[in-house]
Amino acid sequence: MSGGNSGVELIKNGKRLDGRRPDEMRNVTIQAGVLHRADGSAYLEWGGNKVLAAVYGPREAVPRHTQDPNRAVVKCRYNMAAFSVDDRKRPGPDRRSQEISKVIGEAFENVILTEEFPRASVDVNIEILEAEAGTRCAGLTAAAVALADAGIPMKGLIAACAAGKVNDTVVLDLGKAEDNFGQADLPVGYNPHTGEIVLLQMDGHLSPEQFDEAMTMAVEGCKKLYEIQKQALYGRYSDAGSRDHSGGAE
Ligand code: ADP
Repeated sequence: MSGGNSGVELIKNGKRLDGRRPDEMRNVTIQAGVLHRADGSAYLEWGGNKVLAAVYGPREAVPRHTQDPNRAVVKCRYNMAAFSVDDRKRPGPDRRSQEISKVIGEAFENVILTEEFPRASVDVNIEILEAEAGTRCAGLTAAAVALADAGIPMKGLIAACAAGKVNDTVVLDLGKAEDNFGQADLPVGYNPHTGEIVLLQMDGHLSPEQFDEAMTMAVEGCKKLYEIQKQALYGRYSDAGSRDHSGGAE
């Protein structure tokens, strides 16, 4: 990500490298309840991203010193598989995955009714099987479905989508080249029930007007994702017993 225009042509005749319009999201599909052992789970494909989310809890938090007598703690672990990118990613936690785990965990602390489960933990595991930019948004969106699938009480289903700027144009949902050579990336987590922003990060430069435009676009993206999330959950529960339902595409 460079703050200035990189000189790489990312928009031609109003279309992006993969043919999308500036306000168009990559294709998204979600399946809920794909794992048998987890309390809740979801599998999401978003463009070239493939993400598995598994939720356990609420269960007694261990080790005990991690317990909070007043509420449940949300333990979020985002991990990129070694084979998820072209160059082998060194396995294990690194600064980036710790940061992403922290911001996604904080987003969920905002919506999970943690005060109903003192001393418990809600464990949110996000595995990025294939990565192609936007994995924190994809991870949060998948994990929200897994939390709902686990029956964890929440203020609402949250979703996340990024907007950004490439070739001085505000665009929705940056692809890999746009992430590498674009001018700004603004991942936004949103709760459609309350209108609250639950995650906000920014890389690069945007004018105040461009920031407003990008925020509006990202929130619209989240609202579309919310519909796909709901379809995944309806699919799961309208035919209990089957664990293979597509959440539908954008
Ligand atoms: P996000 O995935 O949320 O957009 P970043 O902006 O940090 O987060 O990463 C952008 C993309 O860069 C990732 O989706 C992935 O495709 C790629 N990437 C991230 N970390 C690595 C890594 N260690 N090795 C190779 N590619 C990576």
